[in-house]
Amino acid sequence: MDCIFCKIAAGHIPSVKIYEDENVLAFLDIGPLSEGHTLIIPKKHYAKVDECPAEMMSQVGAVLPKVAKAVFGGMESEGYNVLCNNGRASGQLVEHIHFHIIPRNAGDGVFTQWPAKQYPAGKIEEIAKKIRAKL
Ligand code: AMP
Ligand code: ZN
Repeated sequence: MDCIFCKIAAGHIPSVKIYEDENVLAFLDIGPLSEGHTLIIPKKHYAKVDECPAEMMSQVGAVLPKVAKAVFGGMESEGYNVLCNNGRASGQLVEHIHFHIIPRNAGDGVFTQWPAKQYPAGKIEEIAKKIRAKL
């Protein structure tokens, strides 16, 4: 499969590794939004979160706090974002699940928009019903 993160996980393409175990790898993003921007991936290929078996996601989730703490602590940042794009429309370019850990400091200008909206009356329950129906 022609997947750059599979190649990184297999060691066929170099990466600057932060953490590795049997199932999970964390490495530095080569196009960082801030210094220390890290990616954490399951070594096995899944394109999106909804396609990943719970057991594999648990492995990633189990490592996430440790890696986030190291990124946050190592970079001495004031905060960090954990972000996962799923699908082209969301901004996903590499179709292998990855969680971005992005060190943040006040006024760094990394994300300048959070275009929050409001639900009209009654809409929120309607939306919840549609989503619950797919659980
Ligand atoms: P996304 O838009 O969520 O799919 O993000 C993909 C991320 O992968 C981007 O932030 C890229 O900078 C990063 N990236 C792509 N190729 C590599 C690579 N070879 N090593 C490290 N990071 C990479
Ligand atoms: Zn892959």
